[in-house]
Amino acid sequence: MKDCIFCRIVAGEIPATILAETEIAVAIADLNAQAPTHALVIPRRHAANLSAFVADAEPSETGGMLELASRIGVAATGNGYRVVVNEGPDGGQTVHHLHLHVLAGRPLAWPPG
Ligand code: AMP
Ligand code: ZN
Repeated sequence: MKDCIFCRIVAGEIPATILAETEIAVAIADLNAQAPTHALVIPRRHAANLSAFVADAEPSETGGMLELASRIGVAATGNGYRVVVNEGPDGGQTVHHLHLHVLAGRPLAWPPG
């Protein structure tokens, strides 16, 4: 999508710190990190949010997203990690191309705000 910042990062048109890449997704460092490790797992295919993504996704595509998120979380320093997807205004979504946040490297409070 022409005006989508994450599509442009996936296409290499906007710079980002690439942490890992698969056929299905690209993992980048979040510009405004909330933990020592804060990665975003971004599917190559544009979908506005998780529910739009799963409506069209092959099981291997959904699984590939989770596989990459867990790979980053397991490799991070610390003793565990968290995967978060924000959707819609109540979820606090600000970028309208699906992304899985992977947070690690410090104890994370629960419940979230
Ligand atoms: P969300 O609120 O779940 O939509 O999260 C969007 C995330 O994208 C935020 O954590 C931002 O810091 C991050 N972000 C926005 N633009 C960029 C960018 N160009 N490169 C890396 N991270 C970004
Ligand atoms: Zn996009």
